[in-house]
Amino acid sequence: MDKTDNIYNILKELVKYRCVSGRENGISRAIQKMTAPYADSVSSDALGNLIVFKKGAAENAKRLMLCAHMDEIGFMTTSVSEDGYIKFAPIGGINYTAAAFCEVVFENGTRGVMAPEVDRKAKKGEKSELGFDNCYVDIGAKNRREAEKKVSVGDCFAVKPSLCRLSSGRVSGRPVDDRIGCAVLIKALEQAERFENDTYFVFSVQEELGLRGSKTAAYGIMPDYGVAVDVCASFDTPGKKDGPSRLGGGACIKIKDASVMCDGDFVRLLQRTADENGIPWQPEILTRGGTDAASMQTAGAGCRAGGISVPTRYTHTPSETFDIKDAEAACRLVSALVGTRL
Ligand SMILES: [Zn+2]
Repeated sequence: MDKTDNIYNILKELVKYRCVSGRENGISRAIQKMTAPYADSVSSDALGNLIVFKKGAAENAKRLMLCAHMDEIGFMTTSVSEDGYIKFAPIGGINYTAAAFCEVVFENGTRGVMAPEVDRKAKKGEKSELGFDNCYVDIGAKNRREAEKKVSVGDCFAVKPSLCRLSSGRVSGRPVDDRIGCAVLIKALEQAERFENDTYFVFSVQEELGLRGSKTAAYGIMPDYGVAVDVCASFDTPGKKDGPSRLGGGACIKIKDASVMCDGDFVRLLQRTADENGIPWQPEILTRGGTDAASMQTAGAGCRAGGISVPTRYTHTPSETFDIKDAEAACRLVSALVGTRL
């Protein structure tokens, strides 16, 4: 990584890696390379979490864990049919309407397309739902023998990565969840001027399967404060009116989601830090979803947990859309936080 690289360029590099939950080795190696020049130490644990450490200047420095997950949702091959089609199991929460007819890429680079078994246009009164049991992947093979030269049972794959700039500084593609959080942490590590707290930048694994990596990482680190840096819902599209966060409104400071009630004092500290540094922010209140904040809060003896998020439309689809200014605000807030004595 170059000092001149902005968050967009870092993200563009990070989305190239196909790393479904439990298969994060490739991106972990890339982030290790990008962060090592700015870190006091870099290590990884048994689950595969990458832990980048910066020693704090304060006496009796508190331990601060910042966490963004490296994994993405995807699929695992379960069988290959006689005529060469691939059946699969889901890894994480899949939106099949979004995945249908998308190009998918396997770990070894093999390409295919996801297709529903039948035309799922529902007859009147009939429920039509797509799922892993009625979708398959067509890699173009003529039969099982051909297919098995390319794909084995147990191989993982994901919808093709992409990234494009829309108008007004907005960006769309996948996997934005949570490579944008990783990009925010990498940039914050590089640009922060001082570190008051013993700061652990954790790039976690298996978040999409139930916040697994951050749980063991937090148990190992035993932080006093934990902050998940992730995407959150945006409530500014037609028909969506039930939340405060929107694109362009600044970094989201999490108050609650379905998995966590953030520490009230820590939420106020984050809000104050944003105000004092002129960083635009907005409250985040979600009725659904969860992030690594929940597992950090309850791992071991627990910690004071919070979240800094980038509001994102259409999460878990090939068109996850966010505003680059919100990501920059999130990055400035993380940089300000590491320089604030906790
Ligand atoms: Zn996420």
